[in-house]
Amino acid sequence: MSDKFDAIVVGAGPAGCATACKLARAGLEVLVVERGKFPGAKNMTGGVIYGPVLDSLFPGAPGDIPVERAIGRHVICLLSDRSSVSLDFNMAGSGDRNGYTVLRSRFDRWLANKVEEAGGIVAAGLRADDLLWQGQRVVGITAGGDEFRADAVIAADGVNSTMATKAGLRVNLSPENVNQGVKEVIGLPREAIEERFGLTSDSGAAIHFLGFCTRGVHGGGFLYTNKESLSLGVVVQLKALMESNLKSVDLLESFKEHPTVREYIRGGTTVEYSAHLVPAGGLRMVPRLFTDGLLVAGDAAALVLATGRALEGINFAVASGIAAAETVLKAKERNDFSKESLSVYEKLLADSFVLQDLKTFREAPRFLENQRLYQTYPELACKLAEEVFRVDGKPKKKLWQLARQEMKGRVSIWQLLRDGLSARSSL
Ligand SMILES: Cc1cc2nc3c(=O)[nH]c(=O)nc-3n(C[C@H](O)[C@H](O)[C@H](O)COP(=O)(O)OP(=O)(O)OC[C@H]3O[C@@H](n4cnc5c(N)ncnc54)[C@H](O)[C@@H]3O)c2cc1C
Repeated sequence: MSDKFDAIVVGAGPAGCATACKLARAGLEVLVVERGKFPGAKNMTGGVIYGPVLDSLFPGAPGDIPVERAIGRHVICLLSDRSSVSLDFNMAGSGDRNGYTVLRSRFDRWLANKVEEAGGIVAAGLRADDLLWQGQRVVGITAGGDEFRADAVIAADGVNSTMATKAGLRVNLSPENVNQGVKEVIGLPREAIEERFGLTSDSGAAIHFLGFCTRGVHGGGFLYTNKESLSLGVVVQLKALMESNLKSVDLLESFKEHPTVREYIRGGTTVEYSAHLVPAGGLRMVPRLFTDGLLVAGDAAALVLATGRALEGINFAVASGIAAAETVLKAKERNDFSKESLSVYEKLLADSFVLQDLKTFREAPRFLENQRLYQTYPELACKLAEEVFRVDGKPKKKLWQLARQEMKGRVSIWQLLRDGLSARSSL
């Protein structure tokens, strides 16, 4: 193995593999170091890759990408402790799709294979320990006691990015800017999944929960369909979780017991359990994205969109990885890897959905601090639906009267208006 490369990528997740794939295809010598036994071994996601981001790397996607199901049905489900109210958006019948579910151990391995097919080297089981410096410039990494040099290093080492921290580009994570996710993959026969979720062949559903799933802690739950399994999990703000004295595993257990969820997972067997952190601070958390000889991509740069509806991280990781590769290719043409030359990266991200979406939703993290979103409103919606659909032989009330009755003691009209206005400006 040569110890001088055009580029070294730290981390074989979606950000790192996207970068490496594009660079290797352009003929650059690329080394990817991955601390896991194999790419994807340590990785976790809820499971939906949103949008068409993979098409630019793999035209005709999904093609042979190991996706599970094409998402044609999106549901937002509010939970009280015993009932639920849902908004169900179904475009499966039209053949339209807005993403795919994936299982990371398969998906990441496939991506890493594509890097190798393009001529890149993926060294799994090798952890990058430190950066190599020449003056103020990053010139490589140390890993497994060896030094590896390169013109450019791409830190794609995930939410805890030691590389970006060692480069002085970011500080340690703070609990209000990070969410903790726990997830189970629950095996179920294909027919049971399709019958319960109203799906045909490879179409899939993504259900996002708010309310009882986190028992009032800031966050939400998700249930995604794979071919022969379901991905079920909760994601909660670390600070709120610490203050609640609850544990995320207990939240997941009670979520599984909720009547709405229990019905979906009935008879299933847990085949995988995982926990992971995910950046949730939005634009305010995004660090400096480059320095001399180094670029930061994906979760390492906190490029994740969390608007309370869904988490978009994989598409942001892939898009930022592609932008990092384009930046390195331009720098290579100029033979200039200084921070001035690498600043193209920020311009590319600013021109794409990556920084534009984070800017559009810059106020979302503050809006999501509102405690009423996680208990008051889901309970209110369920109670109201209960009253609206109740026929008990007593005279009925009009909808507004019922709403006022249920709001009493829960939320004032002014709070409701303020929250509505705040939602309008943040989301
Ligand atoms: C519970 C949960 C649910 C989510 N749901 C979704 C979803 O449905 N859709 C979505 O788009 N996003 C979702 N996300 C976010 C998404 O998973 C991440 O944004 C995405 O995985 C980021 O990709 P990445 O390549 O930047 O980082 P990662 O996927 O974390 O990859 C980083 C890689 O770097 C390796 N690494 C770390 N340190 C080193 C080192 N020192 N040396 C060598 N290798 C190293 C790791 O082993 C890993 O392979 C979710 C996240 C969580 C936690």
